[in-house]
Amino acid sequence: MKRLYFYKCLLLILFSLFSSITVSAHQTNHFKTNVYFAEGCAENLTGSNKDNSSTVEKEKEKEKEIVRPKNSPLQDTQSAVSSETILHYLGNEAVLVEDKEVKFLFDPFFHNHYGQYILVPDAIRSKIFSGQAPFDNITAIFVSHVHGDHFDAKDTLRYLKANKDTLLFIPEQGRLQLQQLSSYNEIEAQVRSVELKLGDPAISFNLNNMDIDAVYIPHAGWPQRQDIQNTVFRISTPSNFTVAHFGDADANPTFYRQHHQHWKKKLTDVALVPYWLALTPDGREVINSIINSKKNIGVHVPVKGHPALPGSWTDYFSRPGEQRAIKNHRELPNEK
Ligand SMILES: [Zn+2]
Ligand SMILES: [Zn+2]
Repeated sequence: MKRLYFYKCLLLILFSLFSSITVSAHQTNHFKTNVYFAEGCAENLTGSNKDNSSTVEKEKEKEKEIVRPKNSPLQDTQSAVSSETILHYLGNEAVLVEDKEVKFLFDPFFHNHYGQYILVPDAIRSKIFSGQAPFDNITAIFVSHVHGDHFDAKDTLRYLKANKDTLLFIPEQGRLQLQQLSSYNEIEAQVRSVELKLGDPAISFNLNNMDIDAVYIPHAGWPQRQDIQNTVFRISTPSNFTVAHFGDADANPTFYRQHHQHWKKKLTDVALVPYWLALTPDGREVINSIINSKKNIGVHVPVKGHPALPGSWTDYFSRPGEQRAIKNHRELPNEK
């Protein structure tokens, strides 16, 4: 009886010893797998944790060797980048985009509020002109169209004369206004004009590793304002943040659908859109289903606000000085 008990005990000890070895082997495998996914692809981490079968773990180990050999160039292309871009609201449709390596301004200089829109406050204007942070080292200025609540030729000329490294992207109509001014020749080399009309394909520029696409979307109130060259600039920064500014674009989805390939080509992190796009089913179709944007921020909101806005928007700018910090976490392979 005593001998039988001894054998039983021995068996139990052996069994528990064997199981503990197996468990620790599993833990080691898990640890290795987690480290691999943490480096390479965070999204798969959850999936790998759920799996406890040693066969699957072994398969994953094999897969790991195949997919990611040491020193493979794949290692670099799979790692994710993380950065933060800050959008500063200045007034009406004026916005400063402050990215890791570049800064640029949309529709910054204008003087006409038409009795209802938000002007850029003097304090902000003087910071822009004196180049005080965050308005220092501006790479480019983008002007959507030449209406008085978006553009002033004299201010633009004055700024460019004092900031020879800043380029101006502007519809041809704006360039013609600048050309009327006496010292236009001093800034001519800094001007990139865009002349687009309905149905024209997008045109592209590359500037200091920024990809810039321009497309014509008619001004709101079609067909009355079809003569205005309303240009939608979409800019991708070197750190892969993409922002688009729609100027005073019309809400009719037909104008956007004809540029289907243009929107499809790139995911826009932030679309700065005139607030009226949120007020009609047509406009909502544009911003939610056509332009391929992750986040939309409304601009051009009247001083008094708009009664329909609070229910229609997740976000809009209405106070100069407001900011939005946008986290940019994306895999490196170029979308180009
Ligand atoms: Zn306008
Ligand atoms: Zn306007």
